[in-house]
Amino acid sequence: MDRFEVIKGDITKQNVDAIVNAANHSLLGGGGVDGAIHRAAGPQLLGECKKLNGCRTGEAKITKGYKLPAKWVIHTVGPVWRGGNREEDTLLGACYRNSLELAVRNGGIKTVAFPSISTGAYLFPVDRAAGIAVQEIIRFLEINASIEKVLMVCFDDQTYRVYQEAAINLTRPQ
Ligand code: ADP
Repeated sequence: MDRFEVIKGDITKQNVDAIVNAANHSLLGGGGVDGAIHRAAGPQLLGECKKLNGCRTGEAKITKGYKLPAKWVIHTVGPVWRGGNREEDTLLGACYRNSLELAVRNGGIKTVAFPSISTGAYLFPVDRAAGIAVQEIIRFLEINASIEKVLMVCFDDQTYRVYQEAAINLTRPQ
C-alpha cells in the first residue's frame, strides 16, 4: 500500500492538505500534540474552535489551518484508556475512520497526516493503538480513491518503531 507511510516527525511541519489533531472534548486546546498545533496555527484556530461546541469521543470536526502549512485541521477526540473494556478499540478506530470521511466530504483534501491518537496523555497502549490505526487507514484507502496519501507522523523513536512494525505486518501480501 504505497498511499500509506509511517514517518518520524512533527505534525505541525507537514505539507499536507489536512493534519489531524488529537484534541479533547472541549476543542479548546490542551497539551501534547493539541498544544503544538494551536501554537503553530496561531490564536485564530482557537477562535474558530470556540464556535464548534466541542466534539464527542470518536467523532471529528474540521477547521482551517491558519498559520500551519496544512490548509485544514481535523479535530478528533480519542478515547481515554480505561483498561480496554470501555469501547476503547472501537472508539479509536472511529477516530481514524471519521477523520478520513470528513476529509473526503470536505472536498479537495488529498493528503492527510495523523498523530498517534490517544497514546500520550490518554494512555492507550501504543502496540494496540498502532494495529487499530493502521488497519483503519489501510481499509479506508482500499475503498476510497480520493485520498492520495496518508502519513502517520510519529513524534518519538519508540512510537515510530511500533507503527512501522504494524504497517509491515498489515500491508504484507497474504
Ligand atoms: P492524547 O491525549 O490523544 O493521548 P497526546 O498529544 O498526549 O494525545 O499524545 C499523542 C501522541 O502525539 C503522542 O505519541 C505524542 O508523543 C505525540 N505528539 C506530541 N507532539 C507532537 C507533534 N508536534 N507532532 C506529532 N506528534 C506529536
